Amino acid sequence: MKKLLALFIILTIFTSVMSGCYPQSSNETLNVPVTSNSQDGSNSLSSQPYTSLLTPLSSITTPMTSPITSTVSTTTPKTVQTSETGTNSPKTKYDLTISVDGSGTTNPNIGLVTYDEGSVVNVTATPASGWKFYMWIGDASGSDATISLRMDGKKDITAVFWTGNRFTSNAALSGLMAANSVADAQQSLQSFVSQYGLTMEITNIIPSSYSKTYSTYSLLTDNDLQTLKTYGTLFIDEWSKYPIDWVTNSKVKSIAIVKKLGVNTTAPAVAAFPDIVGETMYYDDTYSGDYAREVIHHEFDHLVTFNIFNTWAPVDSIWLSFNPPGFSYGAGGASAYQSNNSSLSGEHPTSGFVTGYATTAIEEDKAETYAYLMTTTYYHHLQNWLFSDTDLTNKVNYYKQFISKYSPEMSGNYFDEINP
Ligand SMILES: [Zn+2]
Repeated sequence: MKKLLALFIILTIFTSVMSGCYPQSSNETLNVPVTSNSQDGSNSLSSQPYTSLLTPLSSITTPMTSPITSTVSTTTPKTVQTSETGTNSPKTKYDLTISVDGSGTTNPNIGLVTYDEGSVVNVTATPASGWKFYMWIGDASGSDATISLRMDGKKDITAVFWTGNRFTSNAALSGLMAANSVADAQQSLQSFVSQYGLTMEITNIIPSSYSKTYSTYSLLTDNDLQTLKTYGTLFIDEWSKYPIDWVTNSKVKSIAIVKKLGVNTTAPAVAAFPDIVGETMYYDDTYSGDYAREVIHHEFDHLVTFNIFNTWAPVDSIWLSFNPPGFSYGAGGASAYQSNNSSLSGEHPTSGFVTGYATTAIEEDKAETYAYLMTTTYYHHLQNWLFSDTDLTNKVNYYKQFISKYSPEMSGNYFDEINP
């Protein structure tokens, strides 16, 4: 019996660790050999309690408001001596710093201008040819190209322009197509992920203790070049949907592309694996199509969640409140809704869930919902369901709010724009 119990404990630990890929009951305790890397203090957002990051939907009235807005306004004003008045009375002035993201201009020009306290400044953003104005972020918000700012403090604003596929690098894609070796292809993929500050590891993977313990894989050889080109194109297509800040706030540091990716003892083959210690996303280049696209986002969501909340499945009563009455996650759970959730499969099997897989655990529900927002084919399925599924609508709006806290650019029409 003891042997059986030990086996059970070992299996529980392994399956808990891999809850990122395989559904487990959402209330399991996770025992992972995580180091301090996920709470290194470099991202102040990560140290905030979960509830403070998420505003209940009922209290949200201006979803476009950038979270950065509230961080300024306490700056000490600088005083200057006015010469023309002939007196020494100081006049308060504030700096306005204008930046752009993407390609376009502003009026006043990009840079720093100082204004008297209380003055109202009109700023207009004009996209470069082939680009569109998308939105203001920083101490301004909204998608009107011209905004009026009242100078009641120091302000930093950024005009965001985009092409619809603004993070795609044509040079990286053409370089990938022309590559004569895996090393060449790696170089092109590196040039793409460099914009996110990431390292691309293909020929030279340096595994963390975590990936050594829990994953198995083989390195690509030049015989795998064509597969890598195909997968690399798909990877760029999907990953380029991510604004820089979303990736930066996720704390991921590298992308590893391998073959024969598996998880020790629990799954001989997986399409992706989030390494929460090495901060590396592992992707298997033999997968293709919408499944491969969806998994890229699904597993990345697990990494983001872990790095923000230090757990795969943070307690989230708001999310749970969107589930149908009596619903419990997990196959065979004490569910009044279904005696065995494993009978739920395929897409949108019931109200509130994008897939049957999403009914297996709260973290899978979130990862699936996120992946459906990011994967174009599935995004359009999702849009159709939202017309009549208020549970799912609540989850989608709530998750969009969560995402936009970390990436102001991923708000407004963002998901429509990336999923034409
Ligand atoms: Zn998963």
